[in-house]
Amino acid sequence: MQTYDIIIVGGGPAGLTAAIYARRNGKSVLLLEKEGFGGQIAYAPRVENYPGVGAVSGAELAERMLEQAMDLDTDTDIGTVCEIVDRGAVKTVRTEEGEEFEARAVILAAGARHRRLGLPNEEELLGHGVSYCAVCDGGFYGGGTVAVAGGGDSALQEALLLSDICKKVYVIHRRDSFRGDREKQERLFSRDNVEIVTPADIVALLAPGGDLTAVRVRHVRSGQTRELAVEALFISVGQVPELGAFANVLPLTADGYAAVDGECAAPAAGIFAAGDCRGKTVRQLTTAVGDGAVAALNACRYLEST
Ligand code: NAP
Repeated sequence: MQTYDIIIVGGGPAGLTAAIYARRNGKSVLLLEKEGFGGQIAYAPRVENYPGVGAVSGAELAERMLEQAMDLDTDTDIGTVCEIVDRGAVKTVRTEEGEEFEARAVILAAGARHRRLGLPNEEELLGHGVSYCAVCDGGFYGGGTVAVAGGGDSALQEALLLSDICKKVYVIHRRDSFRGDREKQERLFSRDNVEIVTPADIVALLAPGGDLTAVRVRHVRSGQTRELAVEALFISVGQVPELGAFANVLPLTADGYAAVDGECAAPAAGIFAAGDCRGKTVRQLTTAVGDGAVAALNACRYLEST
């Protein structure tokens, strides 16, 4: 079996940047991704805050990052990493699909998955009116009435996209103020087909025939409930990391993120973490690519010192 210099777990912006930096430093690299390269950014309709490229679709930007990594002869594979065994100088990486790989250093850039609201029938209504991705599923509800849950940049972006194609969009958020950026808020609030429902919790998903027909919301202060007839609810309430399986190789913060230092290095030699899965306060495309560079260059330094 080939022992790679570096295995990168996760093919989003952090992982792709790490691959580009590591390959340009002459290291052999395997980039493992479980779904599609590009990560979450591939679903962003428009990226407007990545310096130097103006406004660009997330899919195009992700494609260009992948092309750049591939042009540098990065090895790639599709697989869900389920176990990392740290044998010191060599680390073994196993996938759910039964593959096994070896490397001298590992960079975890596994991102995060969509946080659930935690409502009883939320999982079973996936594909029946509940979605976590307007770019993927919004088109099914063109001309209809839908709701978006959340108050961050993602929720605002989803609501803007849906308001272009739907008759009406409710934006349901648990606080009066939104944490997403002001420019997006202003654009959204000026739309005639958008109704802001705040501060409100979604307390029930109504689906008498198996497909979502309405959401029940409760006003946070008054406790009054109200049913909003919708064909779909797009839940956009943040991300949660999925690093539980890797707690044997690096410490996790209380909320499950990789507790690595400012150099993206774990206490165990040769283990690094980068991007949205790393414990930090700002999760942006720019900080993800920054992490990817830091993790890769420090992994290169580690390899050269051993
Ligand atoms: P986020 O910024 O963490 O926002 C999550 C939102 O969901 C918050 O408004 C939060 O409410 C709400 N929320 C969390 N848990 C909830 C629950 N259990 N029930 C109801 N509401 C809940 O997540 P995000 O919007 O996915 O963004 C992630 C990162 O990517 C952020 O740093 C964001 O700036 C960045 N991003 C940037 C862009 C861009 O174009 N620049 C686009 C997308 C994302 P509270 O506000 O009350 O906590």
